[in-house]
This record gives sequence, structure tokens and C-alpha cells, in this order.
Amino acid sequence: MTQFGIELRPKKQPLSAEQRQELLKDPGFGRVFTEHMVTLRYRHGQGWGQGVLEPYAPLTLDPAASVLHYGQAVFEGFKAYRQADGRIATFRPDANARRFNASARRLAMPELPEELFIHMSDALIAQDHEWVPSEPGQSLYIRPLMIATEAALGVRPAKEYLFLVFGSPAGSYFPQGVKPLSVWLSKEYVRAAPGGTGEAKCAGNYAASLIAQQQAMDQGCQQVVWLDAKERRFVEEMGGMNMFFVYRDGGRVRLVTPKLTGTLLPGITRDSILKLAPDMGYTAEEKLVSVEDWGRDLESGALTEVFACGTAAVVTPIGTVRFEGGSWTINGGESGPVALAIRERLLAIQHGTAKDAYGWMHPVPVRG
Ligand SMILES: *Cc1c(COP(=O)(O)O)cnc(C)c1O
Repeated sequence: MTQFGIELRPKKQPLSAEQRQELLKDPGFGRVFTEHMVTLRYRHGQGWGQGVLEPYAPLTLDPAASVLHYGQAVFEGFKAYRQADGRIATFRPDANARRFNASARRLAMPELPEELFIHMSDALIAQDHEWVPSEPGQSLYIRPLMIATEAALGVRPAKEYLFLVFGSPAGSYFPQGVKPLSVWLSKEYVRAAPGGTGEAKCAGNYAASLIAQQQAMDQGCQQVVWLDAKERRFVEEMGGMNMFFVYRDGGRVRLVTPKLTGTLLPGITRDSILKLAPDMGYTAEEKLVSVEDWGRDLESGALTEVFACGTAAVVTPIGTVRFEGGSWTINGGESGPVALAIRERLLAIQHGTAKDAYGWMHPVPVRG
């Protein structure tokens, strides 16, 4: 049987409702996986093959598979939300499909037709629809990825690739209520340099970031704030989230986010907030933000909140900033009203309790 042009080979013996409920009780993030995955293979000269929905299982890879040596690996992340009426919808998967192809191009990997990217995700969600949780803030996190599978040690773009999509139920990121982050300003390491891969969602960017993440944790912080590679002066983004600075003059709220210079990952949450801002009565601008601006504007009181945004945590206030030789507290270390209002608005659109004026939600057709 096929659906969305994908061959369906589901598990013969799916888990019982009780077994599933047990796994869904406290899923956390990225620890529990659903029962299926969708795979698609590419061969140079032949193009993409037939997509297959199959049971979630370990992969078999040749030890010489080039992803293991030279790191051709790109990925995406978006969420499927249970809607107020019980149906399921994903948030802006078309934007993820486009960014996936941009990442693939940067790593000299083949692009995937955008409809196929969305169909493969839909097929997985339709099959594992019972894994989409329904509590507020919960979702099914969808992880598409592509790796180079060709067994070849010569350094050149591989000729064979595997695209796959799997899902992981995600609990509320803040089960005890939104808690501001403490962040570490990294001056020693950089995440991305001009001409590098900072704009691509590729595995290697993460590998290179982990030593600074370790440092942040040693400083009692949860996340790293990356600065530009040349001057270590301009704020770029965090480990997997973009950033917004909230200014107030009189009653007016102005949002500022670091502009996309080519070394930042263009977040879809970031883009959504830029589009939502005017409708919420805020002005929004993209510009360079320096560490000096940050300190000075906190001191003067013009900068009232800073928050991070990304698919996993949606919007997260930043309460404390630490760096070599000092620290700052933002908004008394508490969540601010603007960050919380934006968070609520985005979640309401994602869960279908607020009108989707932007056409962001993609309904997933589920049989039966
Ligand atoms: C994925 C990612 C983000 C956030 O992007 P969203 O599309 O909003 O989830 C930000 N920075 C980095 C480095 C990322 O990998």
C-alpha cells in the first residue's frame, strides 16, 4: 500500500495503548521515539528512489560511509501539534523544507523536492498519530536528516545518501513553568566564521560547539551565547536558538534581533516573531548588536528583557549573563512580560486556539 507516494510497510505488532501511554507519561525531550521512520535513498546518476515507511530500527552503515569520516550530515526540526479540535497540524514545514535544501547545498549534498520532504513527514505522523500528545506545550518533534552513505574514503562529495524522518514525543519544555536561562558569553571559541557553515543546519556546527557548551555548564550556565568570529564583539545566537532584545521607550516596545550576516542560523521561530511583532503592537528590527550595547542598555534601563527562541523551547527568557570577569542580571532574573506574551501567542497559533492569520499551520491528513 502507498500513501503520499510512499510505500507503507508498518510494524505487524504495534505497541499496545498501555505501553504507549507509559512511554508518553514523561517523554522529556529527545529520549522517546515513535514506532516508525520514513527512509529514502539517493544515488548519483539515478536520483531519489522510493520512500518507505518502516519500523523504527537501527541503521546499517558501511564503516567507510563518508558521513562517519567527513561529516556530510544535515538535519531539521519542527513540531506536530494536536489542535483544539483533535486534528494534527505541523508548524511551517515548508520553511523547514527550504532551509533543509539550503543546508544540503552548502554541504554539496543533493536537494530534496519540498513536497516530498513534507509528504514523508506527513506519512510518518499519519502512521504514528497516536503518539502526538495533547497537553498544552506538548508536541511530536519531527527530525528529518540526510547523511552520506557511500563507502569511499576519498575526500569529495559522496555519491549516495540516505534521507530519513523520525519522530520523538516532546513534553513541555518547562513543566514547572517558564524559567529564565543563564547564559555564558564565549570569547574563547566561535561557532561560525564568514564563508563557513554557520547558516547551515549541519551536524559539524554542533560538534564544534560542544567544548564551549561544556565550559558554559562548568560556569553554572545552561547555554552559550556566540559572538562574531572576527571581533568577538557582535552577538550572534545561542547553541540552538536565536535571540531577541526588548527595548522600551515610554509605552512603546521595540524588538531587536541580530541581523543575518551569513554566520547565523536563520531560525524559523525568529522569522515568525519578526512577522508577529507588528500585529502585537511591537516594532521589530534586525541589526548588529554588540556586547557593549547590551551592557550599556541594560545599565540605562532601556533594554528591559532578552529572550531566546527556537523550535524546541519556543521562547525562553534569559535571566543571567556570565562572562570572563563579571555577570549581568536581566529583569531581576525573572521572565518578562513581552517574552511571555510572544510565547503565549506562538503557542496559541501552534495549538490552534488562536487564528492562524499567516497560513503557518499545515494540517496532516490522518486516515480513519
Ligand atoms: C535550529 C537552530 C536554531 C533555531 O531555528 P528554529 O527554526 O527556530 O528552530 C537556531 N540556531 C541554531 C544554531 C539552530 O541549529
